[in-house]
Amino acid sequence: MSLSVFVTRHLTPIAEEKLNSFCTPEYWPEDTPPPYEILLEKTRHADGLICLLTDAIDARLINQAENLKVISQVAVGVDNIDLQAAEARGIPVGHTPDLLTDATADLTFALILAAARRLGEAIDYARSGHWQTWGLTTLLGESVHGATLGIIGMGRIGQAVARRAQGFEMRILFTDLSAHPEREGEFGATQVTLETLLKESDIISLHVPLTPSTAGMIGADQLKSMKPHAVLVNAARGPVIDTDALVLALETGQIGYAALDVTDPEPLPPTHPLYKLPNALILPHIGSATRSTRDQMSLLAVDNLIAGLQGKPLPRAVARSTGR
Ligand code: NAP
Repeated sequence: MSLSVFVTRHLTPIAEEKLNSFCTPEYWPEDTPPPYEILLEKTRHADGLICLLTDAIDARLINQAENLKVISQVAVGVDNIDLQAAEARGIPVGHTPDLLTDATADLTFALILAAARRLGEAIDYARSGHWQTWGLTTLLGESVHGATLGIIGMGRIGQAVARRAQGFEMRILFTDLSAHPEREGEFGATQVTLETLLKESDIISLHVPLTPSTAGMIGADQLKSMKPHAVLVNAARGPVIDTDALVLALETGQIGYAALDVTDPEPLPPTHPLYKLPNALILPHIGSATRSTRDQMSLLAVDNLIAGLQGKPLPRAVARSTGR
């Protein structure tokens, strides 16, 4: 009996080669996600699904997919998948942690540097002909070297950011769900409450998964408690920050700068007020977007899928209790 596999976007060529040698999958041919109704139709009789974070894999979809044996997501975050519904049906969910940690931490550091040193504005300033002379007070930013970095979510990516911050001799504060004295030891960092972190950090970087406890965790009150020159970086998930409150905080100078790889909503419409603010830098969710990382992520997603179809343990399965 032949296996039916639906893949919601083309994978990288090396991963498609591997998958195509195992089965004859159907790839969604567009660059944009399949509409939800099509996703329902394509998964109704599918044995396996490879999906991206832009696909809503909700309880309705999972429950109507009568033959589904495995869901394999090409990402570490799985907030688009109803893990409880998958578990209730005994369908394992795979994801791609670790492989993307360094690429995402590199990008986070690029955001930290670009925001603190106002690179976006400086590039526009030079390009637009405003550069007349060397100015003693032109485009002054904030020091990164020696600054206090607050990491919210000191997991795989948070720790990789801390490793980079050590090279900049930064003081590192972090907050997590549980107590982690071992992380303090490894990075010379201090675990503090969220309130202390927000108050004392010059640069705040978000690395929590999107869950009911992290959605909106940075709202008006949290923004108010930050330093007026604070740089806020988000390479986690957009809804962790209340976007309207952030726009207000940036407009009124409550905080200094926001650098966002992820936004709420995504994509951020071109008319959105965030684009008009000189102290906001927006990237189109490219945290893990390096050639080698996307190859590795796609290959692991294929391995997870194949294992699931063969009834074997997935190389990287998500545990519903932890989302990891
Ligand atoms: P991870 O290893 O699971 O780390 C998550 C960290 O968040 C853990 O330290 C956890 O603390 C902490 N945490 C969870 N809930 C919290 C809460 N309510 N308050 C404070 N801390 C909390 O995950 P990861 O691999 O580093 O990835 C993190 C997230 O980054 C992913 O879920 C994904 O959404 C996002 N991401 C984005 C991109 C991008 O392209 N921008 C790329 C990759 C990943 P405990 O250890 O105490 O549980």
